[in-house]
Amino acid sequence: MPAPVPVPGREPIPKQVPPTRGTRLRQRLAELRGPAVAAQPLDARALAALAANPGCKRRAILDGAGVNKAALASALGSPSAFGQSQFAFMRGNAFEARVKADGGAELLRLVQEKLDAGAEPPVAGLVPDLAAVGPEGRAARTALALREATAAGAWTLLDHPMLALDVAGSPAFLEPDAVVVHPDGSWTVVEIKSFPMLDGSADAAKVGAAARQAAVYVLALERVADRLTPAPGVRHSVLLVCPKDFSNLPAASAVDVRKQRSVTRRQLDRLTRIEDIAAALPEGTCFAPDLPTPDLTAAVESVPATYAPECLSTCELAFHCRARSRTEGAVTSLGRSLRAELGGLARVDDVLSAARGESGDPTDPAVAALRRAAELRAEALGSRSSDRKGASCP
Ligand code: SF4
Repeated sequence: MPAPVPVPGREPIPKQVPPTRGTRLRQRLAELRGPAVAAQPLDARALAALAANPGCKRRAILDGAGVNKAALASALGSPSAFGQSQFAFMRGNAFEARVKADGGAELLRLVQEKLDAGAEPPVAGLVPDLAAVGPEGRAARTALALREATAAGAWTLLDHPMLALDVAGSPAFLEPDAVVVHPDGSWTVVEIKSFPMLDGSADAAKVGAAARQAAVYVLALERVADRLTPAPGVRHSVLLVCPKDFSNLPAASAVDVRKQRSVTRRQLDRLTRIEDIAAALPEGTCFAPDLPTPDLTAAVESVPATYAPECLSTCELAFHCRARSRTEGAVTSLGRSLRAELGGLARVDDVLSAARGESGDPTDPAVAALRRAAELRAEALGSRSSDRKGASCP
């Protein structure tokens, strides 16, 4: 059939291409963030914290939309206590630059010494250029560099590579301090921290936080490896590099992150999909920090949260959520373990009422335990007061 001849002045109207699901979600997240607000990238520290509280839809949507939670907390009148001093930041950067100096010679030596003693020592490692436009471009460049380095079979240092990880249906871009490719083609994540390593060991809590962060990078790196044939091995021991005994010299230690990796993967799989949370929000919801405080409070409160005391060390909104949780009398503000033991009793008022025998199913083990505890308390207080009555002064 011959093609229709266009009539001058009556050109066919181009067909509207419907937006894809990904585009629609990106638009919706931009609306939630605020039209003039730049997205805050989700880093591995935030992802590890998100995975630690997978039931919190509030944190999931705020992180998914790239909302700056520190700015939001300040706008809500509950500024966070997070942040690093400018001095500590500069000292950390100077230490990292020192560790990676001379084409990463010292860093590659530490990786070989701590994680791959059987391999030939690195002489002159390769440091590919990873520059590209935008996070997607940088992630693609990183994947290419990893493939080339694996095929080359030589010690290679990828300085600040970019990795992508799907989080609750939305891509998150992550930037580890470094990834090293070994001569056998395996890959190692390197974490460089500014807290000191004294006599070969560092603060256990800080090492634990670094391990959780590194586990997120390992998961993201495995996604890249899965797309290559044959898939290179991603090592589950990462290299932690810290200043040695308060000096500026590097000390390194291998940290096994298998446990953190499997916990984080399980928790990330449990996250509710960002688009499902976004779809349940009222029309016009926006978290832009320049909105009036009552509007912002209403927007934040429209998303369910699961506050727990652990939030104080992991989330910028902790003071806001704690105040709300206490006002509502939620038992989660007393800790997750207590919440789990109280079964269906979610509020402090319900717990007290059940303990007094005014409400609650007596066959419920939590209610029965509360009543027993209340009886014991009453007995103890009663006997103490009778002791006092019967006691006589010498
Ligand atoms: S502080 Fe609030 S938003 Fe953050 S994780 Fe806890 S409950 Fe969720």
